[in-house]
Amino acid sequence: MALCFFSLNMKKRIIQISFLIILLVVIYVRISHEKSKPLKETHLALGTFVTIDIQEKNKQNREIIDSVFSLIQNYEKQFSLTYPESETNRINNSENSIRISEDMQDILRISKQISNETKGAFDITIGKIIQMYDFVDEIIPTQAEIDSALVFVGFENIDCKDDKLYKKDQRVFIDLGGIAKGFIVDKAVTYLKQKGITQAVINAGGDLFVMRNPETDVWKIGIQHPRNPSALFGSVEVQDMAVVTSGDYEQFFTKDGKRIHHIIDPQTGFPSYKSVSVTVIAPNTTIADALCTAIFVMGPEKGIKLVNLKEAIDALIIFEKNRELCYVISKNFDKYYFTLIDSTAKFSKDLQ
Ligand code: ADP
Ligand code: MG
Repeated sequence: MALCFFSLNMKKRIIQISFLIILLVVIYVRISHEKSKPLKETHLALGTFVTIDIQEKNKQNREIIDSVFSLIQNYEKQFSLTYPESETNRINNSENSIRISEDMQDILRISKQISNETKGAFDITIGKIIQMYDFVDEIIPTQAEIDSALVFVGFENIDCKDDKLYKKDQRVFIDLGGIAKGFIVDKAVTYLKQKGITQAVINAGGDLFVMRNPETDVWKIGIQHPRNPSALFGSVEVQDMAVVTSGDYEQFFTKDGKRIHHIIDPQTGFPSYKSVSVTVIAPNTTIADALCTAIFVMGPEKGIKLVNLKEAIDALIIFEKNRELCYVISKNFDKYYFTLIDSTAKFSKDLQ
């Protein structure tokens, strides 16, 4: 009797242990499955929403995304004017010369190159003028204020030699708002590639880098409609390319019927009205970002001419003519399967 009772107890224990093992196996399988899922996350950074979408089923996705966001935050602290201790502010507060980091040397070198190529349409020395506009309190500088600041606008006012930056005048003030986002996206892409990621998208408020789509290779990217925030103007299909859009709808207010926006013509110190939105597709996000701002200022005629001369760079320029929305595309833009969604927009063939 005692023996029989003992074996019954054993049986019960064996069943209990078996259940426990099954439970542990199920938990383990669930955890490892969860860990190797694609991961997409959005954070508020760089003054906008930044989304990182890793499509690979990678166990390190969580770790990788956290590292990318902290990389982005560190670069923001280095380049942004909103951090008093940023390198950009140290340059702006410096007297005539200052030692700069390698990243700053790179960003200044590319800025100068784009400035030269666009005859000054892109110019980071526009800083003092940008500071005079306030898109929250709706403040426009007076002509006299602009004239006094324009004296310090122009790449000839700064010079870089190795790790030294020289300013012609203490009051020269730089603003990296037109290029830093692209530069930071490129740094994030390099980091992801180093970690073996090949299927991801980074979107920093209109500055995108698109790797490979796991199913279709290319990603279909919607281009924001410049006059209807809830609609798309068109779409393109890309892989391993930067797609950057700059528009007059990002930061603006209306005064006396005029749209006062954040893309400024360095020649006049006032917003540029030659374009309403520009999308640049290029292998490099830094160059795409700076070129996008420059082409916006140059307008459709000069802008498309410049892009057509460039290898591997394409653009869509949307502009207004007689209150109608018109657009022009660079000669190779169609290789990205551009699809027009706003069928009322007019195609300007003569500008292509
Ligand atoms: P967004 O930041 O909205 O994507 P852009 O890339 O075009 O748009 O950058 C606009 C920012 O660039 C402005 O907020 C300002 O800081 C700066 N900026 C404006 N005009 C110029 C210009 N002509 N050259 C260089 N930087 C500019
Ligand atoms: Mg830009």
